[in-house]
Amino acid sequence: MGFTNEDVLRMAEEMNVKFIRMQFTDIFGILKNVSIPVSQLPKALEGEIQFDGSSIEGFVRIEESDMNLRPDPNSFVLFPWRPKDGAVARLICDVYNPDGTPFEGCPRGRLRIAIEEAEKMGYSMNAGPEAEFFLFHTDADGRPTLVTHDQAGYFDLTPVDLGENARRDMVMTLTDMGFDIEASHHEVAPGQHEIDFKYDDALTMADSLVTFRFVVRTVAQQHGLTASFMPKPIFGINGSGMHVNQSLFAGDKNVFFDPDSKYQLSKEALSYIAGIMEHAPAFTAITNPTINSYKRLVPGYEAPVYIAWSQRNRSPLIRIPARRGLGTRVEVRSPDPSCNPYLAFAVMLAAGLDGIKRNLTPPPPEEGNIFAMSAEERVRHNIPSLPGSIEEALKELEKDQVILDSLGEHIWNRFREAKIIEWDLYRTQVHKWEVDRYLAKF
Ligand code: GLU
Ligand code: MG
Repeated sequence: MGFTNEDVLRMAEEMNVKFIRMQFTDIFGILKNVSIPVSQLPKALEGEIQFDGSSIEGFVRIEESDMNLRPDPNSFVLFPWRPKDGAVARLICDVYNPDGTPFEGCPRGRLRIAIEEAEKMGYSMNAGPEAEFFLFHTDADGRPTLVTHDQAGYFDLTPVDLGENARRDMVMTLTDMGFDIEASHHEVAPGQHEIDFKYDDALTMADSLVTFRFVVRTVAQQHGLTASFMPKPIFGINGSGMHVNQSLFAGDKNVFFDPDSKYQLSKEALSYIAGIMEHAPAFTAITNPTINSYKRLVPGYEAPVYIAWSQRNRSPLIRIPARRGLGTRVEVRSPDPSCNPYLAFAVMLAAGLDGIKRNLTPPPPEEGNIFAMSAEERVRHNIPSLPGSIEEALKELEKDQVILDSLGEHIWNRFREAKIIEWDLYRTQVHKWEVDRYLAKF
């Protein structure tokens, strides 16, 4: 199934498309695009559109700057908010070197490699992320503020929930673009929202997620609001997570489900959990890549801090939702929506598969509220913590060959370089908190 290049040409004509946005992401998951007139589409579908890779963060140096875009015909979709007359469509692309080989720094390419690895073992990965976001007012100059548009909370409805109109438009736009929306609701914090869509194979889902972030921001702007996927925009209230539900399928069978075993979870599911737990300290740098990510991973706000799994409660890193059968899945709760979804899925898949390859067994599930345990109790239960900063996370990543291999050398080097600069810029700043605390005291 899926579209061929011919289908794309036909649809572009039928839909009166005038421009195509050729999209891809940099290593940080930021969506980039070059717009081409439809006359260039046949050439583009042959992978002949070039761009300057040196201008994209984390790609290549100036001396080796020409890169090619190879669009994935399956990703063809219209932007519903653009005029019907002279419509705009997009294609998501893989990045290639001019010699026709895949570019090692293309995040989508890295996810493809991780998926191929799973395929060799007979599995395909399904992913269902839940990306939360805030809606904020903009000021007179159109710049985002931290003023939320409402005072509502979890599952509240109008008239308190002023984001309702914006969210409704987001859902309609996403539906027009082929998203299978399952639910949308107000989240716990004022101004915080979530829109859930049906799981899909990992590559399609990573594409969907970058599209989702883009659509949510675009529609918010049309409503005079700013949507932000920043993990912890406001101190003292919930941050925004991107829990990733994941399962492995063999054909149309969910490999994680075993009706006859304890917890009705298969051996593979348990080993996958164990793999995630073992590699979590290392993959956190990828699933939680910003300085701000670590302000979310603190006790008390439904975000995980401790490396444990549970069937029910929401304090550990991994929760197993009650659904069984085809819906059996592992929910990893640490990722946040500032991550690059291609890389985040790739590293979590690599971690889980490593658990399966090595036949790892996880510790028993932790059903108590870990946040309520003392530090001694956690030591007694042997519950480690996630890294506390991007600096710590990078050090963990540096020690983990499985996760490094899944990133590839190119991405790891550029990612580390950029994150060390970011950390240095941050740690040399004098923050308001320090001034408030020390200025008068010393
Ligand atoms: N906002 C919480 C987080 O940061 C999650 C809330 C929920 O369970 O949906 O992960
Ligand atoms: Mg949520």
